[in-house]
Amino acid sequence: MDRRAPEGPVAFVGLGNMGSGMAANLAAHGVVVRAFDLDPGAVRRAAEAGCTPVASAAEAAAGAAAFITMLPAGEAVAAVWREAAFPVLRPGALVVDCSTIDLATTRALAGEAEARGLVPVDAPVSGGIAAAAAGTLTFMVGATDEGFERVQPLLGHMGRAVLRAGGHGAGQAAKLANNLLLAATMVATCEALLLARKLGLDPRAFYEIAARSSGQSWSLTSYCPLPGVGPESPADRGYQGGFATRLMVKDLRLALAAARDAGALTPMGERAAALYEAFAAEPERARLDFSAIIQALA
Ligand code: NAD
Repeated sequence: MDRRAPEGPVAFVGLGNMGSGMAANLAAHGVVVRAFDLDPGAVRRAAEAGCTPVASAAEAAAGAAAFITMLPAGEAVAAVWREAAFPVLRPGALVVDCSTIDLATTRALAGEAEARGLVPVDAPVSGGIAAAAAGTLTFMVGATDEGFERVQPLLGHMGRAVLRAGGHGAGQAAKLANNLLLAATMVATCEALLLARKLGLDPRAFYEIAARSSGQSWSLTSYCPLPGVGPESPADRGYQGGFATRLMVKDLRLALAAARDAGALTPMGERAAALYEAFAAEPERARLDFSAIIQALA
């Protein structure tokens, strides 16, 4: 992967759980990172990690070669892109959103950015806070040929896989479809493990068989939701850490909204979303890893 630094400073807006590690990794690779967050404590921590603290998103964007956002939702991304970045970015600058947001906003922003001579890229990530800190994220990229070529070195500083999904919005679409698949397979994996146990099998024996049979999936063999079965996973740590259930609920809502807009049928996704919504209604459970959904089925 190309490890060159971009030609000019990079603006990074959104220094939360994910963005803090990502911005720090960019800085560690010699990139001049102008860091901004609404939370002054987050900006201070970014400065300690080698970034240049700035007082606003617009200050970060002025004259930057690339502008990156890692924010909670589409409204925040749209506001920051339209109000802070568009007025001051120079033509040809990359505008990269790594957040998981709704597809309609991603596509609208890409069109507006292109109309201004900017190069928009949607690059949501797979991998949680630990991967963001370690620089081992997977990026799913929606961009033009030029955009993809130019963004690769930058994303390469923050991840170990930079995968092209297609044109504008394709990265976000891939992320939403992937997480819908993940939620449905996790629920089905929980059901199958509990069914095997109810039918008198040792879950470890069932695991060994399914792991080498057609029921195999990532949810089973990399992230088994039953403690003591398979490689170590959040289940073995009381469902602490990992990918929070509340974030899975967010992603499922976005995936189902995209499916409705596209006229796609998603009966399994809807069922999984209903189970996750009900489970996450209790704040304590919403914080647990998403494999804790097994508790709702036991
Ligand atoms: P977070 O809430 O920890 O961080 C978001 C940061 O954005 C906060 O520091 C907040 O102060 C800042 N912010 C909000 N609005 C702002 C604005 N207008 N201007 C400047 N700063 C603003 O969220 P996170 O866990 O870092 O997630 C960020 C994105 O990454 C989300 O879209 C999430 O879905 C996605 N994601 C998260 C994970 C995960 O495991 N946490 C994994 C994959 C993808």
